[in-house]
Amino acid sequence: MIIENLAEFASKKFGQNFLKSDRYLHQIIQAMPDDDLKVAEIGPGLGDLTKELVKVRNVTAFEVDKRLCEHLTAEFEAPISQGRFELRCGDVLERWGEGALLDEPYHLVANLPYYIATNIILKAFKDPMCRSVLVMVQKEVAVKFAANSGEKAFSALSVLAQSVGRATLCFEVEPEAFVPPPKVTSAVLLIEIDRSLGDEKFEAFLKIAFAQPRKKLSKNLSAAFSKEIVEQTFAKLELDPNMRPHEAETSIYHLIYNELKDKLDGKQQSKQRKQSKSRLKNARKQ
Ligand code: SAM
Repeated sequence: MIIENLAEFASKKFGQNFLKSDRYLHQIIQAMPDDDLKVAEIGPGLGDLTKELVKVRNVTAFEVDKRLCEHLTAEFEAPISQGRFELRCGDVLERWGEGALLDEPYHLVANLPYYIATNIILKAFKDPMCRSVLVMVQKEVAVKFAANSGEKAFSALSVLAQSVGRATLCFEVEPEAFVPPPKVTSAVLLIEIDRSLGDEKFEAFLKIAFAQPRKKLSKNLSAAFSKEIVEQTFAKLELDPNMRPHEAETSIYHLIYNELKDKLDGKQQSKQRKQSKSRLKNARKQ
């Protein structure tokens, strides 16, 4: 396929910013974990990163844009026929579903479409086959995943990353390295995963905990749990009731969650009971 004007060809809808820098492509390959596991690439695009990946690993790639699928099928004819490269066309999030993306252990390596980057990373955390995530994302997102407690950027994403393994911001990439250039600085983020995120409700709990990052953690939690229960929990765990969400370490979030998770259900159930009682009352009035 001959593309006369790459910037015009690029689809905004699919978050296409093609990485056109040999230097950064090589830096991504160098940052990969040192083993021989398979690689899953999301959004191979024109195949610049893919070309480097198939030199060192077996790769399965997922691409949503039909124009690019056609291009990649022709471009990678040899590795496809040798069984070193497989292309799956379609929306990766639909294919992923609730289970594993591949049926064997793998590393995720990608220059991600930014509109679904966080979603993809969180999906990888729950995928029992995913061993690491090495991805280009918006710098702001990379900073959040890699932050430590006490830092301003420490967020629900940092706690989730620390709950599955270790996150490192590898290097930054300026907009000019892409065609078309994105509006923001990018960064390559590595998250080495040694356990998958088993409990779905933990993510929801963290959303509550960080809902208003500048307020006290206890105040945020009181939006979903009764004030007395939050006070009792803080007293039991000997926590400072004035601490802000970014000041608590990941292990503290696990302790608080273990104390409160069943009570979250309890409060929701009693809310539902109240709602159905009032619906019944209203129906009787009519
Ligand atoms: N890997 C190429 C590179 O580095 O130049 C392209 C990266 S570009 C930022 C993102 C790629 O993800 C595009 O090829 C885009 O079509 C693809 N993409 C966007 N949404 C997708 C989805 N839901 N499923 C699979 N691929 C998707």
